[in-house]
Amino acid sequence: MSGQTAERYLGDGEVTNDMRTIGLIGGMSWESSVEYYRIINRAVRERLGGLHSARCLMVSVDFAEVEPLQREGRWDELAQQMVAAARAVERGGADLLLICANTMHRVAGEVEAGIGIPLIHIADATTERLKAADIGRIGLLGTRYTMEADFYKARLSQRHGLAVSVPDAAEREAVHRIIYDELCVGVIRSESRARLAQIAERLVEGGAEGVVLACTELGLALTEKDTRIPLFDTTRIHALAAVDAALVG
Ligand code: GLU
Repeated sequence: MSGQTAERYLGDGEVTNDMRTIGLIGGMSWESSVEYYRIINRAVRERLGGLHSARCLMVSVDFAEVEPLQREGRWDELAQQMVAAARAVERGGADLLLICANTMHRVAGEVEAGIGIPLIHIADATTERLKAADIGRIGLLGTRYTMEADFYKARLSQRHGLAVSVPDAAEREAVHRIIYDELCVGVIRSESRARLAQIAERLVEGGAEGVVLACTELGLALTEKDTRIPLFDTTRIHALAAVDAALVG
């Protein structure tokens, strides 16, 4: 299957290994899509050696067209856009799909139903890592939609049995603002890093065993170098789950 897949977009070039093609919907924002690309390619090089890099295919959207629809709650329109992007990725020859943002997993069900290739859900990949680390109580940082709506928290708690806590209203507002006004436009401020660390640490003081960076830009500002608490960066976890799936068998 992967041989034929590769030929679909690489022309008639020789297929040298059994790697599957990773499909990505990026641009939400591209600041984190770059990280996906880097993590995926580095991991493939580490695993296969030499000049190996990932077979992948990204449709990258214009985030200025996405963000107002999120703010206005027009998730049906966003679902249509995501399904169209997913189908383009599938037609291009991808064997599996990532939506490179936590928030847009609000429409993951519609996307999954609209394509014939598997979607690797970011919350499921993250749960696997949490379970491997024996973590059952987590704090969640992300956009307002991810921290407040049920699509993400309920998946973690009801489907996966995790206890999920989120920051208080003022802190949620601060995290949301930092994501959209700074990280999504490439601005990383040390005051914001300190504020994120403080908010994450408060979640741990409240009983969380680790904090999930459930926004794909948060890892640009906050890493384990900045705090002593265990952090789970969904960008890295999701990207590496795709590499695992691409190199299986
Ligand atoms: N990348 C972000 C996330 O992981 C936020 C941007 C968006 O709303 O898509 O949720």
